[in-house]
Parts: sequence; structure tokens; C-alpha cells
Amino acid sequence: MFTNKLSTKLSKIYTISSYNVSRWSALEKIFNSKPNLNLEVVTKSVGLFGVPQLSTHEGFYFVTEKCVQKTDDLVREALSQSRNRKMVEIFDELSDSLCQVADLAEFIRFAHPSSDYSNAAEHTSLAISKLVERLNTNVKIYEALKNAVHNNDILATTEVDNLVGKLFLFDFEQSGIHLCEDKRNQVVELNNKILCAGQQFLNGISNPKVIKQSALPESVRDVFSSDGDKVVISGLYADSSNPLVREMAYKIFLYPDQNQELLLDQLLNSRDELAKACDFNTYNERALRGSILNSPPRVMELLETVSERVRSKANKDFADMSMLKREENPNGGPLAVWDVPYFTQKAKRDRFQVSTKEYSPYFSLGACMEGLNLIFTALYGISLVNSEIASGETWSKDVYKLSVVHESEGLLGYIYCDFYERNFKPNQDCHFTIRGGKVLPDGTYQLPIVVLMLNFSLPRWSSPTLLSPNMVDNLFHEMGHAMHSMLARTQYQHVSGTRCSTDFAEVPSILMEYFASDPRVIKLFAKHFQTKEPIPERMLHKLCASKNLFTASETQLQIFYAALDQIYHGRHPLQGTTTDILADTQNKFYGLAYVPKTTWQLRFSHLVGYGAKYYSYLVSRALAFLIWETYFKDDPLSRAQGDRYRNECLAHGGGKNPCDLIADYLKVKPTPHLLAEALNNEIESHQEHVVETQRTSVFFSDVKKKIHLDGNVLGLPPKNLRTEGVEAINRGNQRRKRGFFTTFCRWCLEFTRAVGDDSSKYHRPHRQADQGLHYGRFQTERFCGSGSRRVLSVQVVPGLTGRCRIYPPASPEQW
Ligand SMILES: [Zn+2]
Repeated sequence: MFTNKLSTKLSKIYTISSYNVSRWSALEKIFNSKPNLNLEVVTKSVGLFGVPQLSTHEGFYFVTEKCVQKTDDLVREALSQSRNRKMVEIFDELSDSLCQVADLAEFIRFAHPSSDYSNAAEHTSLAISKLVERLNTNVKIYEALKNAVHNNDILATTEVDNLVGKLFLFDFEQSGIHLCEDKRNQVVELNNKILCAGQQFLNGISNPKVIKQSALPESVRDVFSSDGDKVVISGLYADSSNPLVREMAYKIFLYPDQNQELLLDQLLNSRDELAKACDFNTYNERALRGSILNSPPRVMELLETVSERVRSKANKDFADMSMLKREENPNGGPLAVWDVPYFTQKAKRDRFQVSTKEYSPYFSLGACMEGLNLIFTALYGISLVNSEIASGETWSKDVYKLSVVHESEGLLGYIYCDFYERNFKPNQDCHFTIRGGKVLPDGTYQLPIVVLMLNFSLPRWSSPTLLSPNMVDNLFHEMGHAMHSMLARTQYQHVSGTRCSTDFAEVPSILMEYFASDPRVIKLFAKHFQTKEPIPERMLHKLCASKNLFTASETQLQIFYAALDQIYHGRHPLQGTTTDILADTQNKFYGLAYVPKTTWQLRFSHLVGYGAKYYSYLVSRALAFLIWETYFKDDPLSRAQGDRYRNECLAHGGGKNPCDLIADYLKVKPTPHLLAEALNNEIESHQEHVVETQRTSVFFSDVKKKIHLDGNVLGLPPKNLRTEGVEAINRGNQRRKRGFFTTFCRWCLEFTRAVGDDSSKYHRPHRQADQGLHYGRFQTERFCGSGSRRVLSVQVVPGLTGRCRIYPPASPEQW
């Protein structure tokens, strides 16, 4: 009896779930099904990430202890007169042993749902940072390294050895070990101060503002949450359709905050002192060393050049948004900073009719994962293979583990996919390196392990996890980082994969966004999760164009942020308060003026994390654009280009000077001017795409409007024009599937008009008319974007199904 009940229940569920699992590929099936949350097989735990000690949280103490011992051994080896390895090899092993514990602990502290584990991991994190601090002040090993780097090591070294050796030395010197004792103590003290001020500043970043209800105009009081006679404003309300709400939220949320201001001043001043103690003129000079642009004047040159080049284009964007604002309310006043996100979204919605609801059925998580698999197979000959997870290996049961397998080289590494939301999971999209790749002493390769963390909703019974276009971009972006880690084959883990210059680190991930925005690539995998129908061309092109809308103004904003970050970390004392500088920089670099008594900088968290490197994203974007345009645009799935990109870019991780890497791969030197030109060209190509798509969309909607207004289309006789016929035919796909009619091509408008002297008699009202269908003899005309036109005579008669059939069935025509 019990079994019967269960099977009825199951079959019911199966019918509700109308999507057909059996037609999916292996990867698609895995990621479109509910994770096996309840299939707990009781076997012995292998420990987190397969580390046997970590089968219980107490294991963190053993792991820490082991790491301390290994560190002592390696330090002894480095100092030994009779060592028989290169210094850089010993240092890399030391760094590997510390990173493996610290990175894993840091991740578990961040992600593990159990407080036992996260507390134990935090303990380990602290213990390892103390250990690192102790190493950083160990003058003896510093001297030993310095000696090996500057004078010849006991064994012959390669170029890579020398570069990595220098990187280790530079890291050492960050903590002032090369300085006299007074200065060294000062550096330690300043580092602590910076850490403290930074942390406190971040804690205050999203503090809400509380004001008296009476201070707000009555009409908007209800919008914000209230507490007695107080109103709490906890964000910018940038999406609100009420302009007064946006304005009030902006002005109040960004109102000056003395405490935050003090902390920011402390942070910036301590950083300046630190730089000076280490013999740099400014903090940004210190931060930029070893990067692609390498010096503050070159970064400012990039920012100023791009700023000049995009100004007029950004102004056009703002003019466009102003028009939208006027359309909404002719007396709404000029466009202001708080209007930008709202009208950007509105334009995307209205002009391209891109709504998540319409798009997401084509982007099931499984389809997207299969898409990534297809792309990687085509480019690099690798596949993503879902691998079994042993008991206790992961921190949550809904995590997947992918093996990255090359067709001839075999297993390259593992990606753990922590994709689903759960209680208390940090709401951030991130890539974590758990273990870097490196050549081990026995000559084998230590396989890299990474975690990708995203926040998708779990699949339901009725549908798999469906992603919005934005989430697809994020998934591709993070996967770009993961592939950097997987495909790098560096000798040392200190430079494996994403451990490279900050202004190169985002190149692989931004490049993946190009793949996620190319119609030819999207078409490969974006299929409706129920019908398997590919995403219609019309939707596809609108989606791609909508991603490119207002890129100029968006870039201008990034330039403004990057410039602000540079100036704050530049020459001190600063020319005025941080707010004065914000106002000046905004007025110089951004097309919309600074709003008095607002302090946006006090909510800018990246000042802490990036500290003088916020510009990096722009550099990576310029390089990704150049790589795409030069090597992938013509044929995004070229194996030859994929292999080349892998061998000349990804394989090196941070083990090659980034300027040389770019110069060798792209055959150009990454100068500020070149990068500025690339960004400008990127924006221009986006704008062209938008204009083209808008032109054709406008064409379509204009014609439709005309049909309704006066029954005339492009000079055709108005007689008996039937737009309903158009609608019927334009619902192309289903119809053709049932053997009826028609393909509806890209940029093509199709409509039907009645023909024949007595055609009107066929147009008597019919019950079908309610559904937008008439029957009679018609002429179908098609216009494509270029204005050419074809005419096809058809006859519409009621079919047995109660729907109209259209004869003769048209053979698909290509336009
Ligand atoms: Zn990224």
C-alpha cells in the first residue's frame, strides 16, 4: 500500500514537471535536476576537500599544527648551508604549504554553514597570519632570499625562477623587513592601523540613515521603513519610479558622516605614511609596481585620455536619458545622478523589451553549463565532467564537483560549484583558489582546486534553475576566472592562475562575458527548458544590444571612480577634504555634476580592497576587448585561437611579466594610449550595435503603429489591411512545427493584407477573430531591415483544429 501511494505521488510530480529530462545532455541533466539533498549514504568521511584531518572541525587544529612544523622545516632548509634545492623552490613550497591551509580556512570560515567549522577555520586563519607575520620579520631568511635573488643562487636559475624570486622579495619588503629597526616597527604599526581603519570603514559602509519623518515630503514618507516618528533610509532606492524618492534617498543616504570621514582619512594617511616609510613618494606608486601600467602618471594618462574620448558619447547617453525623463514628466527637471540607474533600466526594458521573465526559460542552469562545456571543448579540447562527491568532502550537500579533463593531457583540476542560495550564505559571486597548481618535487603536477560561489535559487519540481541574462554573465565571468586557474601550468603556485598582476586578473573573466554576449555562441546553448526550441533570433539580438546600451556613460563613471581612487592614494597632503576632491573629480570626469552635501566616497568599499588599483578593471576590459577583436570575433570557437590563448596567456598565470605577455600575444605594447583607444573602440562598437538594433526595432514598431493609425504601410494601398493576420503569422514557430507556416527572420517584418475584389466578404466576423485570426485570401508581405520586400499569396481557411490554416505552406525563405 505504502509503495503504491508513493508511486502515485511520484507520477504526479513527474507530470507537473513538464520538462523532459531524458533529452538533456549529461551535464545539462545534472545541473537541471534537484541536487541529491537527501541521499545521505553513511560512509566514512574523507574530510573537506579530501583533506582527511578535516572530517571533523577539530581537524583544523591538527592541520594548523602540521603547517607550523612544515614551515619550521622549510625555514631550516632555506638557511642550511647544505641545501640542494633552489631558494625559490623552497620559498614556493613554504608559500604553498601556508596558502593551502590559509586559503582553505579562509574559505570555510566564509562559507561553512556550521559555526563549529567556521569558528575552527577562523582560529586557523588567525594562527596562520601570526605565523606569516613571524616569517615576515625573520631577517635571516629575508637575507638568504635576497642573497639568492641578487647574487647567483647555488643552482643555475631560469627567467621564471628569477621573476618569482623577485616577487617573493617584493612581498617580503612590503612589511618593511629591509628597513632599519625603527622604520620596521613603524611599518608594522602602520599596517595594523590600515587594517583596523579599513575594517571599521567597511563596517560603516551600509549603515542606514535615520531622520525625522517630518523632514521628508509627505508624499514619499510611506516608501521608506519607519520606526516611530523616524524614517530609516537604508539605500539609494535607485530603481524607484518616483523621482522624488530617488532624490531624497540619494541626498539623505549620502549625507556626510563624521565617523566614516575620520576613518577614511586615517586609512589614506596611514597608507601614505607607509609608502613613505618604504621609500616611495606615494601609496599609489607602491601599489602599481609590477603592474601593466606600472606608475601613477601612466594610469592618470589612461584615465584622462579615455575621459576625453568618451565625453561626447557619454553626453549623448545623458541626453537620451534626459529625453526619457521628459517623456515621463515634462516638468521633471534636468537629469540628475540619481536618475541614471533608473532610466538605464527603463531604456533596456522599453526599447528592447528585455524582461527577465521572458528570457530566463532559455537559460536553465543546465543549458548554460552545457554551453560552457561546448565552448571549452571547442576552444581547448577540454570537458567539464561531473564527479562524484565523497562523504564529508563538501561544506554543503548541494555543491557539485567538476573535473576539468583535457582530451590528451587528462585531468587538469577541480572546480567545486557552490551555486545555490542557502541560509546565511554570503550573497557574493566569487572565485576562491583553494589550492594553486605547481610542479611538485617528484616532477608531478599539483592539480589546482577552486570554488565558484554564486547565488542561484534551487531547482523546483516544475522547473530547473532559470537564470536571468545578468546571472548568465556572472556565471560566465566566474567561470573565466576558474579556467585561468585550471589552464595555467605554472611551475610555482605563487604565480598560478589568477595570482597575477591585478590589472591582468580580470582579462579572462571579462573575455568570457564576450562569449556570453555573442549571438552565435548563445544560440549554441540557449534553448527553452521545456520545448528545447532555440532562443528566437529577435530576442537574441535585442538581448545582446541591450547589454551595450549606455556603455559610454557607464565607462565615464568607472573612470571617475578610478581617478578618485588614484588621487586619494596620490600625493599627500591632499588638496582639501576627501569631499572637496570628490566634487572636483566628479565635475572633471563625470557628465553629471556633484550634488552638494553628499559624500559618496564614504560608501565606496573598493577604496579599502583595491587601494589605488580600482583602475585595473578598465585595463582588463581594454585588453579583453583587444583579444576578442583580434583573435575571437571572426570565429569565437576556433580551436587554433583557443590553444594559442591558452598557451600564450592563461598558461603563464602570473609567471611572466604582464607587459611582455601582452606584447608577445597581442603583438602590441600595452601603452596608456593603446588601452584608451581600445576602450573607445569598444564603446563605439557597442553604440553601433545599439543603433542598428534600435533602428530595426523602431522600424518594426513604427510600421505597426502606422498600420493601426491609418491602415497604410509604406505606401501600400490601405484597403482591407489586416494586422491580425500579421500577428497570426508572426507567431511563427509553433505554427511551422505543426506543418502550417512560416519562418520569421531576423530584422524582418511580415504582415498580411486581404486581396481580391470581393475579399471583404471573407472578412465577416468569426469567432476566430477574437483570437486575432481571420480567414480569406491574403497577401503576405515581408520587409527586411534593408527595405526589400517579397510578396506571397496565401489563403487562410479554418482548419479542423479550430485554428486557421494558411495555404500554401510557405517554404522557408532566407532573407
Ligand atoms: Zn572577476
